[in-house]
Amino acid sequence: MARLVMKFGGTSVADIARIRNVAQHVKREVDAGHEVAVVVSAMSGTTNQLVAWARETAPLHDAREYDTIVATGEQVTVGLLAIELQRIGIPARSWLGWQIPIRTDNAHGAARIQEINGDEIVRRFGEGQVAVIAGFQGLGPDNRITTLGRGGSDTSAVAIAAAIKADRCDIYTDVDGVYTTDPRVVAKARKLDKISYEEMLEMASLGAKVLQTRSVELAMVYRVRLQVRSSFDAPDAPQGNGPEATGPGTLVCDEEEIVEQQVVSGIAYSKDEAKVTLVKVEDKPGVAARVFGPLADNSLNVDMIIQNLSDDGKSTDITFTVPQAELARAEDVIRKAQAEIGCKEVRTDTNVVKVSIIGIGMRSHTGVAKTMFKTLADKGINILAITTSEIKVSVLIASEYTELAVRALHTAYGLDGE
Ligand code: ADP
Ligand code: ASP
Ligand code: MG
Repeated sequence: MARLVMKFGGTSVADIARIRNVAQHVKREVDAGHEVAVVVSAMSGTTNQLVAWARETAPLHDAREYDTIVATGEQVTVGLLAIELQRIGIPARSWLGWQIPIRTDNAHGAARIQEINGDEIVRRFGEGQVAVIAGFQGLGPDNRITTLGRGGSDTSAVAIAAAIKADRCDIYTDVDGVYTTDPRVVAKARKLDKISYEEMLEMASLGAKVLQTRSVELAMVYRVRLQVRSSFDAPDAPQGNGPEATGPGTLVCDEEEIVEQQVVSGIAYSKDEAKVTLVKVEDKPGVAARVFGPLADNSLNVDMIIQNLSDDGKSTDITFTVPQAELARAEDVIRKAQAEIGCKEVRTDTNVVKVSIIGIGMRSHTGVAKTMFKTLADKGINILAITTSEIKVSVLIASEYTELAVRALHTAYGLDGE
C-alpha cells in the first residue's frame, strides 16, 4: 500500500466526461489498495474568465476580493469529483483550502503556503475515504481566502504530499510528461523519463508552464517524488508496481538517479519579458546604482542587464529586462529618476522573448554557450542580452524568432526525437 497525491489540471477536468475519466484514474489507485488525496484545478478557461470579470469590474481592485472570486473555480470541481466518486462507489469528500486548513501568508494573488494540517485527511484514510482537495487556494493570517498564483494547483499538490508524507505526487495533465521543450512548439520534442529537481526548477522558472516553479522548489526541499503524466492515458492501462513505479510519465528526482545525462536537457522560452533601454547615460562611477537603486526600492525584479558604449564613446546605453506585467511601473520609476540618472531617452520593447538552454551537464562541459550563440548567428538571429548561471544560459531575442530559435537549438544540442 502506498499513499498518493493525484493532481488533475484544468483540461483534465474540463467537463463532466473528463471528470468521470479522472474518477476512473482515482478508482484504479484505490482498487490497488492505496490511500489517495486528489487535488483538482478549475475547469479549463474558468480561472481566466473569473480574472477577466474582476478586471472588467475595476482594473485596479482589492486583491482580497480578487482571491475570493478566482478561488471559486476549484470549489465547483472538487464538489463534482466527490459526487462522481461516490456515484461509482468510492467514499469521498471535498475539502476547500480553509477547511483543512492550508495556511498561507497574506500575499493575495501570489500567496505562499506556510502550514498544512493533514491530520484529519490522514485519519479518514483509515476509514477508506478519498480526500478531494481544491488546488490553488488557502487561508491567510486574517482568515481570508488567498490564492497561490496562476498554475498554483501544482504547488497545492506538492505541499499536501509533503504534509501527509505521501509516497508520490502524480501531476496529471494534457501532455504525457516533461519534454525537452514545449511539445506544442517543437514537434520533435522528446519526452524525458527522468529530470532532476534542479533542471526542472530552471525549466519551470524560465517559462515551461508544465509545473509551477514553486511546486518544484517544494518538491526539492521536501524530497517529494514528483511524476508528470497524462490524464488522457487509459485509466485501466497497466501501471508499474508500488511507490517506486515510474509509470508512463516523467519522474522529477535527484540527479543521482539519472544514469544517462545530457549536457543540455531542455529548452524553455518566456514571452513574459519587457526590455527597457536608457539611451546615452553618462559613463561615470555610480551610474548603475542610480538606475537600479530606485528599481530595487520599488521591489521591481530586474532580470537581464547589459551595458554598452554609445557611438560617442563618452556615454553608455544601459538595457535591462523586467516581467511584462511590471513594465509600466518600471518605466514610471525610471522616468521619475531620469534627471538624476542623466540619460537622454528611455525606450521600451515588449516584442522580445527569453530563450534558455538548461542542463546540469553544463557544470562540467565547456563550449555549451558557444554552440548556442553560433546556432542563433547561423539563423541570422540577433542576441539582445545574455545571462548565465551554473546550469543555464538565457538569451533575449526578438519574439518573432521564438519558434525558429527553439527549433534550431533543439537540433543543435541533439535533442530531436522521431
Ligand atoms: P494543467 O492545466 O494540467 O496544469 P498546463 O497547461 O498548466 O496544464 O501545463 C501543461 C502544458 O505545459 C502543456 O500543454 C505544454 O504545452 C506546456 N509545456 C511547456 N513546456 C513544456 C515541456 N517542456 N514539457 C511538457 N509540457 C510543456
Ligand atoms: N485554476 C488555476 C489557474 O488557472 C490554478 C491551476 O490551474 O493550477 O491558474
Ligand atoms: Mg498548470
